Amino acid sequence: MKSKRILVWFRNDLRLHDNEMLVEAIAKSDSILPVYFFDPHYFQSTNFDTAKTGANRAQFLLESIAALRLAFQKLGGDVLLLQGSPEELMADLVEKYEISEVYHHREVAPEETLISTKVEDLLWKLKINLRHFIGHTLYNKEDLPFPIKDIPDVFAQFKKKTERDAIVKSCFLSPEEIIFVENEEWGELPSMADLGFEPGVDIPSEQPFSGGEDAGLQHLKDLLVEGADIYLKPVKHSADKQGFSSRLSGWLSLGCLSPRKVYWLVKEAEGAFGGNANFNQILLGLLWRDYFRFMFKKHGIEFFQEPDFEKELFSVTDNDNPELQKWKTGNTGHTLIDKYMQELNEHGFIPHAGRLLVATFLVHVLKVHWTNGAVYFEDKLIDYAPASNWGNWANVAGVGKDAKSKNTFDLDKQIKILETAVSDAASLA
Ligand SMILES: Cc1cc2nc3c(=O)[nH]c(=O)nc-3n(C[C@H](O)[C@H](O)[C@H](O)COP(=O)(O)OP(=O)(O)OC[C@H]3O[C@@H](n4cnc5c(N)ncnc54)[C@H](O)[C@@H]3O)c2cc1C
Repeated sequence: MKSKRILVWFRNDLRLHDNEMLVEAIAKSDSILPVYFFDPHYFQSTNFDTAKTGANRAQFLLESIAALRLAFQKLGGDVLLLQGSPEELMADLVEKYEISEVYHHREVAPEETLISTKVEDLLWKLKINLRHFIGHTLYNKEDLPFPIKDIPDVFAQFKKKTERDAIVKSCFLSPEEIIFVENEEWGELPSMADLGFEPGVDIPSEQPFSGGEDAGLQHLKDLLVEGADIYLKPVKHSADKQGFSSRLSGWLSLGCLSPRKVYWLVKEAEGAFGGNANFNQILLGLLWRDYFRFMFKKHGIEFFQEPDFEKELFSVTDNDNPELQKWKTGNTGHTLIDKYMQELNEHGFIPHAGRLLVATFLVHVLKVHWTNGAVYFEDKLIDYAPASNWGNWANVAGVGKDAKSKNTFDLDKQIKILETAVSDAASLA
């Protein structure tokens, strides 16, 4: 009898722990073929004169894939690395490896769902099923106390009802044994140049993060063992008083860490060290993350309360705006804004308070359309995640679904922080 082979299509779920798709594929097949596509779509330039993936995130991605590869190699297999789009390569792959079914984690943002819809259509013609899993959120949608269509648009209500009535499931264990489809050639990990970056592209050698499941788990464990105090830095500027940042987002965005794993390790740490404001902040952040993903699932592009949203997205008029260029390069003349923007450009990360400030400044002070900021963050952020990025930008611009709620974004407060920061800088000078 023909053996059952399942192709496990890795996307933003680059881990072995808490990976239902992987556990199910192992259980339901005789052998599995893990595959990752370096899709050229994600390495293009945009009409905003930005890259879809900047050098910092590309580097973090390569490290994360290398770590996934190593994890599979330790189990006697590998992950097949391909350069090309899944839409173009999938049909040949399933034929070549005699695949019976393809598994993947479902995404929510329009670009990502379009890719899986195309793959699903072409697999359908080959009579092969694409099975969807949920692995990106803290709460599974079926465990929420409301159907997707009734999820409250106001974050405070979503939080209250979800925390009260939904449960966070326990994590799936990392597999200890896997039977891999026999294969000779697993493909080379591309170089930055293969992904289209200029030779000698400028990535600081001392990056604060390295990609991959083990690095993420280690970071989380260190953070929790020290009672989450290690990142509390001396306060120099008023904006920094907004505080603690776990810096987990890069690993969460690529799925090197599962939100459930973070949740349960935080709960364990609370048991060991007692609760604290920093632990609470991590858990609150995970809820915000879920909220934006569920909002995109519920509304799609209608999340943006702006009639001309699609038109703006394809407009190029702001590229030559000198104010936008100064903002991007950290040359606005406002010390704190410039400090954050330079940090973003160099390392691909700034804490939430910094993101709120630079976004507020662009939209409400420089009066540049918010989509220009969102695509710039998409280029630069190491932790770029479509729902979190576009959702937060829309809230700052006042065009998100919960834009009027004080729990979401308080423009007066942000402007006050900006003003105080400017006078702090003047008194320091
Ligand atoms: C304009 C703007 C753009 C943003 N773009 C992104 C993005 O592309 N990717 C991204 O992960 N976050 C984004 N955020 C949300 C937030 O700023 C980052 O998640 C956070 O700064 C990451 O730092 P941390 O890991 O130390 O967060 P912590 O405060 O320690 O929170 C723990 C985790 O919760 C999640 N989280 C926290 N706050 C939010 C939030 N407001 N929205 C969604 N998730 C949250 C993140 O996964 C984070 O790692 C954006 C915020 C703004 C204002």
